[in-house]
Amino acid sequence: MPELPEVEVTRLSFADRIAGARIESATIGKPLRWPLGLAPAALQGRQVLQVRRRGKYLLLDLDHGLLLIHLGMSGSLAFADQLPAAGPHDHFELVTSQGRLRLHDPRRFGAVVWAESEADPVARKLLGHLGVEPLGPGFEPLAFWQALQARRSAIKQVLLAGDIVVGVGNIYASEALFAAGIAPTLSASGLSQVRAERLHGAIRSVLARALEQGGSTLKDFSSAEGKSGYFQLEAMVYDRAGLPCRACGATIQTLRQGQRSTFFCPDCQTS
Ligand SMILES: [Zn+2]
Repeated sequence: MPELPEVEVTRLSFADRIAGARIESATIGKPLRWPLGLAPAALQGRQVLQVRRRGKYLLLDLDHGLLLIHLGMSGSLAFADQLPAAGPHDHFELVTSQGRLRLHDPRRFGAVVWAESEADPVARKLLGHLGVEPLGPGFEPLAFWQALQARRSAIKQVLLAGDIVVGVGNIYASEALFAAGIAPTLSASGLSQVRAERLHGAIRSVLARALEQGGSTLKDFSSAEGKSGYFQLEAMVYDRAGLPCRACGATIQTLRQGQRSTFFCPDCQTS
């Protein structure tokens, strides 16, 4: 599943090249998670001003309205002058004066949604509940700790919920909790200020490292084939159940939290 770093690298892969482009046509394939919200033909003639990111949404600002794109479970975007003929899993395409933007999404949990503005109820429904950006200036250690104080749920679940800090998905939540030495089952309100600050730093560094690695895959992203290019993080715990901890040698454990697998080291993450 594309997580925040993959979405940001996707953005970087085409934002500069599509800025200023005129939309010549838009095509929709099979239904995605949510409807586009207007007839594709209505996008014709619109200009793409810029591409921003909010959480795991890409926001294509048009000269009138915006398109919100989510990659869902299996989506990827390709942007190129020419693309191979659309296949059965290509469900959205914008032909622009500067290239073709195509969404490939075999499982169709992704979406492309048009909104008049970010104040539009449709946009607010998708973006309104999102917490602060983990790599932005709004993510502050003290405010993070204070927000955690109000939550009794397990810290891992609180991170995944995304309403305090957005975009810390399953892989990066597991990795950040390991880096901070915090058990994933600990109640969020049980974190001391010092440990919350350590977790804050760990979230930033884990995401920044993934972004850095992703930067080196930019070439793949901008290829016409639109390689999925999900990063192979040097994981300390994620997907390593039964293997020895890279830090202490203890056996990495796994458990289910809210339908998701959590991975942790019982010795490095003691409380
Ligand atoms: Zn360990």
